[in-house]
Amino acid sequence: MIEFRHLTKRYSKEATALFDINLSIAKGELLFLAGPSGAGKSTLLKMIAAIERPTSGSVEVNGQDIGRLNATGLAYLRRNLGLILQQQRLLTDRPVLANVLLPLLVTGTPRDEAEKRARAALDKVGLLDKAQSDPLSLSGGEQQRVSIARAIVNRPQIILADEPTANLDRVSAAKVIDAIKAFHAVGVTCLISTHDDQIYQPGARVIRLEQGRLVDDGMASREVMAS
Ligand code: ADP
Ligand code: ADP
Repeated sequence: MIEFRHLTKRYSKEATALFDINLSIAKGELLFLAGPSGAGKSTLLKMIAAIERPTSGSVEVNGQDIGRLNATGLAYLRRNLGLILQQQRLLTDRPVLANVLLPLLVTGTPRDEAEKRARAALDKVGLLDKAQSDPLSLSGGEQQRVSIARAIVNRPQIILADEPTANLDRVSAAKVIDAIKAFHAVGVTCLISTHDDQIYQPGARVIRLEQGRLVDDGMASREVMAS
């Protein structure tokens, strides 16, 4: 479903964020992207959404080289992606439900249908009771779960989450991962970046980046966290 072929990304002569990455991700996989800060995790996720372009090599999503997509193709690609990026905060001038509704209204879903789906999405992440709350009244973990609801409300095939558990305590982090896993359970392909070894799920695939290189690709074994 997602295929990196000899992908290299340089931001400048000095900054090679990814070097010769070869990686295959199958439909329905739950994959953790590990590595220290600066390893290239965010860049790898941005390559899949074509937010950044390859310096050389390619990324294919559903058999299409996304470097060759035109504006229409890009819009279609991104509609199929649920992005939970670090720089995308909730809008604080409106309640939680309105934040989750936004992607549906943008794509022209009728209001009634949009409300029903937004509520269903909030229910899935365990926050239906906060639908009318001010986002700023929620904890960091709750805000992150609202971001997940907003990212999945259009039923994307793929979820890309960049450090969704950053700055959260263990219990909140587990709830965030569980919220993502609820969509993995219904067939959504999920990529979660983290520099926190505590959040892997036993049996999940973990790939590790170091200084832009893919240094490990294997299965998490340790039962580190009950959830
Ligand atoms: P991670 O997500 O693992 O922390 P990043 O993908 O954010 O890693 O960064 C990988 C490398 O690329 C780092 O050296 C970072 O400084 C550099 N980098 C990231 N974004 C940019 C950018 N927009 N311009 C220049 N360098 C960047
Ligand atoms: P409904 O069918 O009423 O939308 P669901 O419980 O099936 O309710 O879905 C809950 C929310 O999860 C919905 O808002 C839906 O958009 C979202 N969702 C995202 N991806 C999927 C998926 N692959 N399967 C089911 N629901 C998904």
